[in-house]
Amino acid sequence: AFFADFGTALSLTFGYMFSRPVTMQYPDKEKWLPYSRYRGHHFLTRDEKGEIKCVACELCAKICPCDCIEVVPYEDATGARHPKVFEIDTARCLFCGLCEDACPADAIALGQQYEFSSYASRDLVIGRDELMRKPGKAETGGGVVGARLDTRDAVRVETDEPAGYDWWRNIRRS
Ligand code: SF4
Repeated sequence: AFFADFGTALSLTFGYMFSRPVTMQYPDKEKWLPYSRYRGHHFLTRDEKGEIKCVACELCAKICPCDCIEVVPYEDATGARHPKVFEIDTARCLFCGLCEDACPADAIALGQQYEFSSYASRDLVIGRDELMRKPGKAETGGGVVGARLDTRDAVRVETDEPAGYDWWRNIRRS
């Protein structure tokens, strides 16, 4: 019985040595490809001229249950309203998506970036310009959402983001 059990244990061990590991090699080799309805980091959208769509109506700030959006409006020479300050404290945000639903201009939305942890909570207060640089929803390109994404297959789009600002943009199968 001892040798039978020993043999069974060895065969199990060797079997797992040659099977795919259940742990993910994150972040160097693999990342999760989020589901298309995943709500990650916010981003501010632009119109066809590349201008910010936000009209600083502050509906997002009013509906936010966490009171984590600050909007300070200003009017340009034509009388159009824009946000002088638009800040989201993502440390307080619960990613409910109410701000996206409330926006009459489709100016704010939640994207699929999930890598924005920080050691300092002040770094999680994200301003207007940074929100405008954030990518939108990932294109799954026919990939299986919710599946592991081998980062060697991911397409990284170059941006003008500062060095060390390591967002994966427009993740899709190549
Ligand atoms: Fe506030 Fe919800 Fe928008 Fe976060 S997702 S900023 S909690 S409304």
